[in-house]
Amino acid sequence: MCLRQRQPPKPKEDTRQSNAEKCRQYKENLKKDSEKWKAYLYKNKVQAQQWRGNQTEEQKEHTRELARKRQQKRREKLAQSEATPKKTSTPKKSPTPNRVTRLTQTKLKEKREKDRIRQAKHRAAVKANPQKFRREKEKRKNKRLEKKAVEEEQKRGKVKVPTTVKLSFKCVLNKAKDVLKKHRSKLALAKLALVKKLLNKSDSVLDCSKTYYKRRTDRYSSTVTTYFNKVAVDVPNKKCGQKQKKVLPKRLVDHYIDFKKVHPHTKISFSTFKRRRPNNVLLAGCNKLVQCLCEKCVNVMLLMDGVNSLLKKKPEGEFCSSEIFKITNVDELVAKTVCDNVTRDCMNRCCDGCGVSSFMDVLRKEVSDHLEKICEWKRWEKTDISRKDLVTKSGTLNELLDHLTSDLSLMAKHLKVAHWQRTQYQKLKESLPPNHCILTIDFAENYLCKYQQEVQSAHWSYRQVTVHPCVFLQMSQAVLSPYCDRLQSLFD
Ligand SMILES: [Zn+2]
Ligand SMILES: [Zn+2]
Repeated sequence: MCLRQRQPPKPKEDTRQSNAEKCRQYKENLKKDSEKWKAYLYKNKVQAQQWRGNQTEEQKEHTRELARKRQQKRREKLAQSEATPKKTSTPKKSPTPNRVTRLTQTKLKEKREKDRIRQAKHRAAVKANPQKFRREKEKRKNKRLEKKAVEEEQKRGKVKVPTTVKLSFKCVLNKAKDVLKKHRSKLALAKLALVKKLLNKSDSVLDCSKTYYKRRTDRYSSTVTTYFNKVAVDVPNKKCGQKQKKVLPKRLVDHYIDFKKVHPHTKISFSTFKRRRPNNVLLAGCNKLVQCLCEKCVNVMLLMDGVNSLLKKKPEGEFCSSEIFKITNVDELVAKTVCDNVTRDCMNRCCDGCGVSSFMDVLRKEVSDHLEKICEWKRWEKTDISRKDLVTKSGTLNELLDHLTSDLSLMAKHLKVAHWQRTQYQKLKESLPPNHCILTIDFAENYLCKYQQEVQSAHWSYRQVTVHPCVFLQMSQAVLSPYCDRLQSLFD
């Protein structure tokens, strides 16, 4: 059984439209949605631009000629219509808004009357309320002043912006200034950029190149971060998020001094430098065990500590005036014994302008009264019991200074070599030529072997293992295989 009866087909209306009509209809529909209409206009504009851009010179000339003819025709038509009186048969055009007809006159009169009544009511209300009256007065006064200011500025010819734009611009400027006073936020920068765009010129008030955020993001944020990452030493098998955990080898102050030496033109305060330290780079104090230190450097600093500890015991005001006793690292100490512009002669101790003796003379002068005093100092040395041990030594201050003299004479070259090797390794790592590799090979000694289940007396004799790790660095994967073969042959 059929539930639905079939409807008879409706007679088709004559809805055929011409192309122009269809186009007009389509446009009318589009206009209802403002966004779609805008998109349509924009698309048309772009298309027209493209069409104009693709035209050849000949085609352009042709279109120009056509436009000229069209304009001429229009002008002629206009002249004709003005000369001959209008025919009654021609369809009436809608009255232009400027033309005053009887209808518009009556309408205007009505509107005026309405306005008059409204304003009278408003005035009466304002007069009845003194608060409202005062507010109204102030408003009027402000408006007057604003107008006056705008007129004055226009007279001076400072701002050639139309009034509507200028008011908004003034508002934005004030807002931007307010925000800048309170906190230098990015919002302020954005507003300033907008104002600059409006003005289209750089003003001293609007110069935002010196504000904090701009400088921070553009200039030294990346510089400091890369410096920290470069200087810090990797902590093996430790990660901070996705990044390798690292530890600074020196105090932060010393790193700051080094950074200033490397980047003399970067203006950065110590606090900002401190703040810019990445999360994965730890301070030197975080290292519980500081190992693999250089024996020569440590011994020199131990001697210097010996001198300092002796002098610290004395009542204040006797020695502590000198800068020499504030030296805390080897670089500083060695820098006192070489020229400002270090040459090869300075490092080989052949230079006449510098040397250990001049520095030691100053030091001896400072402590001249106490040269025969007995003092203690420590030193890493080979002993009868072990290969290297921290030995406490005692002697006169004179002896200590002699030791210091002999040790210091070799330090300049030693530090230079270490620094040079380090920088060369860094450079090589950053710019390794193709088909090259870097190998870092060393013995990692004295690894203890322990059994999981062990008899008690076994702890007297542990076996030791030496590992021979090899760090292989190269630029691309493709060239790995030949090196692997060679490495294999090396270990065979
Ligand atoms: Zn060293
Ligand atoms: Zn020198």
